[in-house]
Amino acid sequence: MPAYDLIVRNSKMIDGTGFHEADICISDGKIAKIQRNTLESNTSHVVDAKGMLVLPGLIDPHVHFRDPGLTYKEDFLSGSKGASAGGVTTVFDMPTTQPVVTNASMFQEKVQIVKEKALANFGLFGAASIDNLNEIEGLAQSGAIAFKTYMVAPPKERTPEYAGSFVTSSGQLYRVMQAIKRTGLIHCIHAESDSTIACLTDELHSEGRKDPMAHYDSRPNFTEAEAVFDAIILSEAIRTKIHLVHISTAEASELIASARERGANLSAETCPHYLCFSKEILNERGPYAKYNPPARNPRDLESLYSALNRNIINMISTDHAPHAKEEKERGREDIFKAPPGTPGVETRLPIILKMAHEGRLRLQDVPKLTSEGAAKRFGIYPQKGSIAPGSDADLTIVDYNEEWIIKAADLQTKAWETVLFDGMRVRGKVKYTILNGETAYEQGVGFARPGIGQFVRGKPSN
Ligand SMILES: [Zn+2]
Repeated sequence: MPAYDLIVRNSKMIDGTGFHEADICISDGKIAKIQRNTLESNTSHVVDAKGMLVLPGLIDPHVHFRDPGLTYKEDFLSGSKGASAGGVTTVFDMPTTQPVVTNASMFQEKVQIVKEKALANFGLFGAASIDNLNEIEGLAQSGAIAFKTYMVAPPKERTPEYAGSFVTSSGQLYRVMQAIKRTGLIHCIHAESDSTIACLTDELHSEGRKDPMAHYDSRPNFTEAEAVFDAIILSEAIRTKIHLVHISTAEASELIASARERGANLSAETCPHYLCFSKEILNERGPYAKYNPPARNPRDLESLYSALNRNIINMISTDHAPHAKEEKERGREDIFKAPPGTPGVETRLPIILKMAHEGRLRLQDVPKLTSEGAAKRFGIYPQKGSIAPGSDADLTIVDYNEEWIIKAADLQTKAWETVLFDGMRVRGKVKYTILNGETAYEQGVGFARPGIGQFVRGKPSN
């Protein structure tokens, strides 16, 4: 019997100290050994990674795979295929499915529904609002990876889709934070100011504004900063652990930087669309460029890069949020009629590698930004986010030297017609995605059987 199930030979790995080359030897879904010149007779299967980068399997801590309930937009199979083709081995799926994941029984049902389809490991969020305070403990015990609360209400017609996941006042947020604190899990917060956005939206409606830029004008920078400020102040008072999702502005980055200097238990993410596009994209692509918070200004992009390079923002997620083309088209004449969100789970790594190649991010920070940062924050490190003996054998093998152009029609998402990154020149082609020691995706060959992705339980910590 060979000692290993798989050897990834000549793996070039990066960490904070530089590059290392070795063979990664895998058995029973775990990394067993990292060494040089392993004898081939020791294994039943070899992948040669010569000339490629091997990264800890990517984690995307923010996706909306829409399953169950909204599977015409995406389902767990199409979503996790996209993840796998993009080198992502673990996703954290948001609770805004239908029904919204507001209690333990819905949570357990969702695990059953999605695990059959999963081509990536998956953690699932519980929704948290003033309406389900008594369910929060049960969600934690069911294995929620973290909780999610929107500080901004959805448009009225989409309220059922979000019921149980949003608050509309600081008092409500305060109570939800207190309930989540008892679970020891991270509280993820979508920080935009509900009342100010409602006021600005009313003003724009009365002026008859429906053009794409009205979306930006309804949610200017200070509406993110206001909410980020409230969330930080409350979380420091309550001493709870928060994670601010999709940070988009210089103002919010500065608030996060000073809170972290004070020692606040706070982390944050941004997304490729905030790093690639400024608000002009709304004029160019109309409703397809509508997402919340909106695209910002060139100075915000600069500030986000700086925050990533200073570890003020700890990770890059995608907020993969697909919608059908017809739904986006509703915003052609009136931007307020289009749903917000854009797909991105498959295209994150080559965009980040392009930025690293251009010197805007450091190549040695790529593992931290794409897996290690999330694994550490959400309590699953070094099981995930690490290439070391004992860690799960989740690996992303990418040819960093290959430049290519994103073609939306080649992507796995059901919402490929809405992809904003179509036509973008990027760097780094994913050749293999290794999931729990098995090849989940191989370029030019295809995908493993659905269902090999495993449920990742949240681990409360204090
Ligand atoms: Zn989201």
